[in-house]
Amino acid sequence: MNHTNYQIENWKHQLQNSIRTREELAKWIHISPEEEAGIQALSHTRWSITPYYASLMDPDDPNCPIRKQVIPSIHEKENRYGMDDYLMFKENRRDEADIRPDAIGRQYKDRIAFTVTDRCGIYCRHCFRKEVVVDQEIQLRFDVDEGIAWISEHPEIRDVLITGGDPLMLSDDKLEYLIRKLREIPHIEMIRFGSRLPVVLPQRITPGLKRVLGGFHRVPIWLNTQVNHPKEITPQLAHAVYDLLSCGVNVGNQMVLLKGINDDDATFKKLHLKLLQARIRPYYVFYCEPAPGIDHFRTSVERGAELIRDNLRGHTTGLAQPMYVLATNIGKIPLMPDYYIQEKTEEHYILKNHRGETTTIPNIPEVE
Ligand code: SF4
Repeated sequence: MNHTNYQIENWKHQLQNSIRTREELAKWIHISPEEEAGIQALSHTRWSITPYYASLMDPDDPNCPIRKQVIPSIHEKENRYGMDDYLMFKENRRDEADIRPDAIGRQYKDRIAFTVTDRCGIYCRHCFRKEVVVDQEIQLRFDVDEGIAWISEHPEIRDVLITGGDPLMLSDDKLEYLIRKLREIPHIEMIRFGSRLPVVLPQRITPGLKRVLGGFHRVPIWLNTQVNHPKEITPQLAHAVYDLLSCGVNVGNQMVLLKGINDDDATFKKLHLKLLQARIRPYYVFYCEPAPGIDHFRTSVERGAELIRDNLRGHTTGLAQPMYVLATNIGKIPLMPDYYIQEKTEEHYILKNHRGETTTIPNIPEVE
């Protein structure tokens, strides 16, 4: 497909023709014995790959980072460390006075996550919401009107993250309704979308969607996507991002740190440099959370901070610096490389830079 006509390819056609069986997958890649076993063992879970995303797969490499993100793996059956009912533990803690619809996840006072669907363009095998979205072991009610009513009754909420599943799976009409209703609430100051569709189905960024999301308004729209590997940064993605930006939607990235996919120095650095080339601002790198069945994707907690320290901080432009965070049931905990202040006395600080060089600056008291 040529990048100039990426919008002409109908996104619904892509979804209708997504790959959901072993036979369809065999038309794209040479399926490895391990993948065969995974597909068989996980056939009861949702899996689906858009033809566009499938075109990024290496047909001959079972370790292809695209294949590993979307093809069910037999390792998902092993769960030594993941917590069952992880989503309930993480997002739905509440005291008795705090009655909320299932669609509203709250960890902070002034902002909430508003889940509007459990459908996605692809079903990422590493998803921390896997129990709802991929395995469908937890059933929740995601009612848009119920969520809007709750938000309008809570004047302390100023920022709404619309999430899923993937909220851009909703039709333009439904999105238009959702945005209009939220913008009618006087205390809402900003709307954010979390969506992987620009990466896995860039055809979704249609002129119709641009009309729904775009244009100047008191309540701006931000969008964070999830690019996990440089192979995902294609001319089609870059055009979709350009289209979003040109109608007024800022685009950031929330990478998930995944073992064997993006946890090596070269891939991590290349990804962050390429993100900027595609006009995507690196925002977060997430530690792979303790959700069940994804042990095989998890690195050490320290790895994310090490990757930022060794490849980005000081090594390249400040725009390419994401924050490394561990998302927990009490909110996101930033875990940044801790090597700057080597020593502090009453007289001075000794500071270390990314090359390991040190310098001394005076410890100057604050002037009254
Ligand atoms: S697109 Fe997001 S919600 Fe959907 S499976 Fe992937 S990580 Fe999970």
